[in-house]
Amino acid sequence: MRLPAMRCAGQVRGRSGWWLRFSGCSRQMSVAARGVPHLIGGEWVHATPARPGQQPHHNELHSSLFSQRMSPINGELVALVPKEAGSDTVHRAVEAADAAFSHWSRLAASKRAQYLFALRDKVAANVDHIAASISRELGKTPADARGDVVRGLEVLEFATACVPLLSGRALPNFASGIDVMQHREPLGVCLAVAPFNFPAMIPLWVFPLAIACGNTVILKPSELVPGASTILGELCESIQLPAGVLNIVQGGRETVQALIKHPRVQSLSFVGSTPAGTELYRTATQHGKRAQCNLGAKNHAVLMPDCDSELALNSLVGAAFGACGQRCMAVSVAVLVGEARALLDPLCDRVRALKIGTGDQADFGPLVTQAAKSRIEQVLASVEPQGGRLLVDGRKNEQLVQLPSAGNWLGPSIAAEVRPGMRVYDEEVFGPVLSVLCVDTLDEALQLINANAYGNGASIFTASGAHASHFQAQVKAGQVGINVPIPLGPPAVSFTGSRGSFLGDLPFYGASGVEFFTRPKNIISRWPVPSEAPAQSHANMMNIPTATS
Ligand code: NAD
Repeated sequence: MRLPAMRCAGQVRGRSGWWLRFSGCSRQMSVAARGVPHLIGGEWVHATPARPGQQPHHNELHSSLFSQRMSPINGELVALVPKEAGSDTVHRAVEAADAAFSHWSRLAASKRAQYLFALRDKVAANVDHIAASISRELGKTPADARGDVVRGLEVLEFATACVPLLSGRALPNFASGIDVMQHREPLGVCLAVAPFNFPAMIPLWVFPLAIACGNTVILKPSELVPGASTILGELCESIQLPAGVLNIVQGGRETVQALIKHPRVQSLSFVGSTPAGTELYRTATQHGKRAQCNLGAKNHAVLMPDCDSELALNSLVGAAFGACGQRCMAVSVAVLVGEARALLDPLCDRVRALKIGTGDQADFGPLVTQAAKSRIEQVLASVEPQGGRLLVDGRKNEQLVQLPSAGNWLGPSIAAEVRPGMRVYDEEVFGPVLSVLCVDTLDEALQLINANAYGNGASIFTASGAHASHFQAQVKAGQVGINVPIPLGPPAVSFTGSRGSFLGDLPFYGASGVEFFTRPKNIISRWPVPSEAPAQSHANMMNIPTATS
């Protein structure tokens, strides 16, 4: 592999050994050239390019090429990530997770919870450290990056307290002298595949609960943002979580496909785009695996004429443009009902005033990649030819000239007079673009939302209880907000995206998360008291037992 020259201060932190703070001096890559490591069986394993005839060292595994992760802020190199893990790595990770399962699953649930208490404290103490990694790799503003970690921390806290949810059922003496107990048992090796947009939150949605239930986990972070998962791995190491309970494998599509097809991997928890999730769900279920897949979204917010306009406009702007619109719960469509169309002008004024940049003063940062930026620019270019009006055009935002040209910067946009059938409406844009549609009645708004393939979330802003209750009953979305723009349930309540936004039966976290990570087992037992037990002839045993037999 030819190593590009890079600018770095050569500061290495963490046992994973890849952590570099970039600033100032220019020199050839050293440790960073080893790329982001895998965590396998408690060891940080560095991928190295395969060299003919040469065996990798003990803590190295051959990998195919690396991809260079460029900063979305300024285009500088921030990480080298193995493009695919390679079959050796996949094999070793599954072996490690499987070996750890046999003792981890037998550890008392309360002891497993103690590890999670310790991890909770470590994550809480490292919120800023993890957030800084997210800001560096993804360009999130500091406050937004901290929110990413804290939201995940809340699910980790839920996982520390999930022991009571592991209890089963018992029905003593359900037939003469026969008892039934239903236990919930862990599945085994669970695979978690994470998207780029919440580098800390999504891993924390999955692995703490999975391991609290007695499973072991292989986490495949997004290749675009490996840093937060690596820090989480280091924190697991610092609390002496037994080796192999959490493993981290870097890579892309082939790596995930190999992992999910592996006979000893029992389940898939995927969060990401609809095409990838649909393909993976099919592969997982065809191979007999349990799967939960959170997919893409197109969330609508309905503004009624009687809404509190300050609350509605502020909520809309935050939900549409926060995190540069790169949230699965972002509002990407505003539906103005009747006289609420008068809110369009003040909406545009607020959007024009948004600040793009990196610090705490900024409202949002850059897009994840140059490819995402180019795709969204093409979507914007399609608006007017397809009959819409671009009232605010993010491509022409005057702040762009002050931002690094090598970054993935795009200003906020408002597309009005949008209709289904237009690209900006039909596609998940996943960027700082809000489509606005005007309709005459609430029922028209409902028809529009319900005809959309996605079903992650939908909100209404109104002062009318009647409108709100009609909306909550009729809207086909898994998460409904009433005067709340991003209706995300707390960790004790699952994430309930529906229709085209979810594949599977058991949603992420909450009680259904525990159900996902465990399977029921019935134990039917009879302990006859010798003096009372009637002699059972073999003829009595020939028929299927019933509760009354
Ligand atoms: P993505 O689908 O490109 O990648 C997600 C993960 O899957 C990554 O780890 C990636 O390496 C892997 N991957 C990608 N293609 C694959 C394939 N064909 N086979 C196997 N693995 C594959 O998604 P992304 O761009 O990282 O994330 C953005 C998407 O995630 C958006 O569509 C967004 O709506 C969605 N998302 C949904 C939720 C939710 O809860 N519904 C939450 C966050 C993000």
